[in-house]
Amino acid sequence: MKRVTVRQSPVHGKGVFALLPLRAGERIFEYKGMVTTWREAARWYARRSDSGHTFLFGLSDGRVIDGGRGGNGARWLNHACAANCEAVEGDGRVFIEAIRDIAPGEELFIDYALEIEQQADDDAQRDYACRCGAPLCRGTMLGALASGALVLAV
Ligand SMILES: [Zn+2]
Repeated sequence: MKRVTVRQSPVHGKGVFALLPLRAGERIFEYKGMVTTWREAARWYARRSDSGHTFLFGLSDGRVIDGGRGGNGARWLNHACAANCEAVEGDGRVFIEAIRDIAPGEELFIDYALEIEQQADDDAQRDYACRCGAPLCRGTMLGALASGALVLAV
């Protein structure tokens, strides 16, 4: 039975929502997609002008999983600073797991901790402003994680 579904999100574009109760620590699904290099992905997306969403997930070995090619519903996960899910990497694969119990109907979020190549300038800070509404909201989707984070196509 399907545990999650993708539909319009009140936060941003499409989102992933629980259909069944999910338990803390439960593995929900894999972040699927084509495993490629940063360079190849950057080239691929530079040729396309329609990418309003970020589907690249940075692996600790420097490669990326491109959810935009061969990906599944996991690519629609939205960002929240107080996320209810996290991404766990192992053997070059990434799995999305619940951090806490999640009720049916709740939207699933991970903390993107987005990385950008250069020091974030004011425009970038504005582009990636977070309005998740959490009491501890950082005010930005940018983060300091070295790996295991969603990253940007350039
Ligand atoms: Zn936030």
